[in-house]
Amino acid sequence: MTLPLRPRIGLEIHVRLATRTKLFCSCENRFGAPPNSLVCPTCLGLPGSLPHPNRTALELALRAALAFGSEIARRQSFDRKHYFYPDLPKGYQCTQQRTPLARGGSLTLPDGRTVSFLRLHLEEDAGKSLHAGRKTWIDLNRAGTPLLELVTEPTIRSPKEARLFLTILRRRLRWLRVSDGDMEKGSLRCDANVSLDPGGARNDRNEEGAPVPRIEIKNLNSFRRVEAALDFEIERLRELARRGVSIRSETRSWDEKNDRTRHMRWKGEAPDYRYLPEPDIPPFRIDEEVLESLRLSRPESPRLRAERFSRDHGIPLPVASELCMERESADWFEALVEAGAAPDYCANWLRREFRSCLRRARIVWDEIPFLPGECAKLLRMLQEGTLSPSAGRRVLEAMCSPLPFEEALARVGRPPAGPEPDLDRLVEEACRRRPEALEDWRRGKENAVHALIGEAMRLSGGYADPKALRARFDARRAPGT
Ligand SMILES: [Zn+2]
Repeated sequence: MTLPLRPRIGLEIHVRLATRTKLFCSCENRFGAPPNSLVCPTCLGLPGSLPHPNRTALELALRAALAFGSEIARRQSFDRKHYFYPDLPKGYQCTQQRTPLARGGSLTLPDGRTVSFLRLHLEEDAGKSLHAGRKTWIDLNRAGTPLLELVTEPTIRSPKEARLFLTILRRRLRWLRVSDGDMEKGSLRCDANVSLDPGGARNDRNEEGAPVPRIEIKNLNSFRRVEAALDFEIERLRELARRGVSIRSETRSWDEKNDRTRHMRWKGEAPDYRYLPEPDIPPFRIDEEVLESLRLSRPESPRLRAERFSRDHGIPLPVASELCMERESADWFEALVEAGAAPDYCANWLRREFRSCLRRARIVWDEIPFLPGECAKLLRMLQEGTLSPSAGRRVLEAMCSPLPFEEALARVGRPPAGPEPDLDRLVEEACRRRPEALEDWRRGKENAVHALIGEAMRLSGGYADPKALRARFDARRAPGT
């Protein structure tokens, strides 16, 4: 009998919390500072130093737990997890082993399936070892920065679903302002575990009642790697099963160069961390008032906000949902509509023109150097047709550079007052400059006309009406005209 051997995947995600300072000291929690410049006796673990828990870190973690519907432990405590590593100067990591911050809760995927959490807890990060040739350098800026660890139930069904889950989780944490989720800065890291489900009611056990062997893959720091490592591992396990080789639980790492996982250690070889209650931080209670105020200040969820946009502003729900993928784009939409922009025009413009302009200018939402009110003036001119889309694009680019709206408009040039641009002359000149495009178009290559219209638009300085140009080009399509 062939067993179905479906994969069952669980994820452990470490998220760096968006606090100003570290978890137990007042050193800055910041990426990219010179090595070992953000350290103090506490995060260096010097004798006599004492930890002070960071209230904001706790509140951010609670905010996430509330959003996922997890059950929050009223009594919180920390434990020491001992191990030796050069980037761990204290010789232990402060974590919440015995009583996690919260248990349960879930995240819903776009297809309606939910992935449940086993636990969420706070812990401090270690420093960073940088290997260069035979030398290793230690940077302790990261030592003691606050992490929220989220552990899912092993119910994810495929590597693709694991990647989708991480994408949605990251979006949610950014929406909640719990973390910037920036993987390049190491703000979101992931370990994955996978087993092949032998089927049956007790699918954490095989037919003999022995636990199903589980493979853990450590330190996957991009969503693509999570998917690739799981794909590789599932194929490897299936091959072993086909050959009748018994599978043992083990921990593996991802070898990026060779696109494969590699053995690290067998289960049972894991170090004994000698967990001990943290003596320097007494257990503490979370007041009901704190939870209540966090519940009240909870941001509207992306789904509810998209539904509201669609209902109140008459835009299609998929468009509203796309706007609500990031909290910032939803905020901008709302602010622009409030400043007088037409909702449907504004929604499309934000999703396309605005986003691509930010990308080209290499700025993120937080760094936009102008206010929605200024931007609404630009939108109004675009809507009225007093500014062509390409001139609008250049005004927006100048505003990102940054320039105030009026100056940006002056730089790009105001629409010519008085006589309209001479469209016939523009069309003639464009045909003269782009004979090959004209020829292609006349031979039936429909797209070639866009090169001609583009040329005429450039000649007009961006102020000609593309529709009127198209009509004139159409009239000239027959050779000899
Ligand atoms: Zn410190």
